[in-house]
Amino acid sequence: MFEKGNTSVVQKQAQTGISNPVIVAEVWAEISALLQKEFGSAAFKSWIAPIVPQSFNNGVLELSVATRFVRDWIKTHYVDRIRQLWAQNCGPIVRIDIVIATPAAPAVEKINGVLAERTANANETSAEVPAGSDIPSSPLDLRFTFENFVVGKPNELAHAAARRVADSDTVAFNPLFLYSGVGLGKTHLMHAIAWAIRARSPQRKVLYMSAEKFMYQFVRALRFKDTMSFKEKFRSVDVLMIDDIQFICGKESTQEEFFHTFNALIDQNKQIIISADKSPSDLEGLEERLRSRLGWGLVADIHPTTYELRLGILEQKREMLKRDIPQNVLEFLAHKISSNVRELEGALNRIIAHSELIGRPVTIEGTQDLLQDLLRANDRRISVDDIQRKVAEHYNIRLSDMHSPRRARLVARPRQIAMYLAKGLTEHSLPEIGRKFGGRDHTTIMHGVRRIEELILEDRSLREDVELLKRAITG
Ligand code: ADP
Ligand code: MG
Repeated sequence: MFEKGNTSVVQKQAQTGISNPVIVAEVWAEISALLQKEFGSAAFKSWIAPIVPQSFNNGVLELSVATRFVRDWIKTHYVDRIRQLWAQNCGPIVRIDIVIATPAAPAVEKINGVLAERTANANETSAEVPAGSDIPSSPLDLRFTFENFVVGKPNELAHAAARRVADSDTVAFNPLFLYSGVGLGKTHLMHAIAWAIRARSPQRKVLYMSAEKFMYQFVRALRFKDTMSFKEKFRSVDVLMIDDIQFICGKESTQEEFFHTFNALIDQNKQIIISADKSPSDLEGLEERLRSRLGWGLVADIHPTTYELRLGILEQKREMLKRDIPQNVLEFLAHKISSNVRELEGALNRIIAHSELIGRPVTIEGTQDLLQDLLRANDRRISVDDIQRKVAEHYNIRLSDMHSPRRARLVARPRQIAMYLAKGLTEHSLPEIGRKFGGRDHTTIMHGVRRIEELILEDRSLREDVELLKRAITG
């Protein structure tokens, strides 16, 4: 791997840069995601999201923004961090230039052009929003088509349901409710449905929007006392897609409005497609009547990826990008990065960008080096399965006792310890943990966790057991 300040690398970079605007856009997408995490979504929306990456040549990253004010703000607040992240993801960077341009800068067109070329079906990707439409649909990603979606065991149900909705002229199931953890393909499938419908029946009005944007539109309509036209807009569509509905959990008036829109559309027999990070019954902060309605149609979840699916996705991506990446590197990535597809793609993009930059072929060793941080994070991720296995071993009970209804103290106590550890050591919610313990209710999990918390204070040997297990699991 190269080091900063190594002149031959800098020279090489000066010759090459990242000529490919798609790669620039993808590296930028990855960096923006990190910035969003760091600075929060409000700052992200105001300052980072409007930035358009233009080019990366001779070590100079050119970004464009719409106004001088935004440029100055970014310069004082974010540019150093952007430089660091770019260097980490892509290698040495000499300078960042921020230019002022109108939003539809040429580079964007170019990127979209290249992306469109890359997508298998040019007809579908060139489908436009019907002329004269005043529907504020969010832009669709050109890469998110059915052609580019790799189907495997974990997503076959969701995929089949999405295809059915996209291919039928009548309403298939209403609503179609897709849910999964992050980065597993919900947004991809929704955009794919939208592209397919637009291609098949351009006269149907398709509206795709995140729940966050829906709320924003609604609040704006309230502020400008324009709720009538807001209602009209949303109720005149043929297909309504709302992504990440969990966002409006706890937001009562938005839910109320959404509920009415939802009912109005269902009554007119219009197709609705919703995504969320949890099933309707596990979404917290949702009004009961909305919750039950959301479950009326088909509820399809996307499971965590398998090795085969991850490898399939990487192979497809390699083909799409027309890059020479050895099979063993793809297998290595599929094996090591099991968190989600977004991270997997990010890793592949990083490898490609890096090898373009230094002009050397991709190898396993180089990959290990470059992705150290990511690989470590994936290694560290602890699963409920691991916890159950370790606890069962420790107490010499069967793994199946973790899921069984048996209440004998001999198995119930270790099971509660596993619940306690699952709550403390993973990111899963109580309902999710409940499901992994044989479909127990979240209140049962809560009770188990509390019980162990109490016992830890009273019972020294139990405390030591728990400590020991914790170390074994995280070690
Ligand atoms: P979610 O909305 O569930 O968080 P996304 O739909 O944004 O996830 O997917 C994250 C990334 O992974 C996207 O770039 C998407 O194209 C890709 N992806 C996810 N699943 C697949 C798949 N089965 N085949 C190809 N790409 C996929
Ligand atoms: Mg999404």
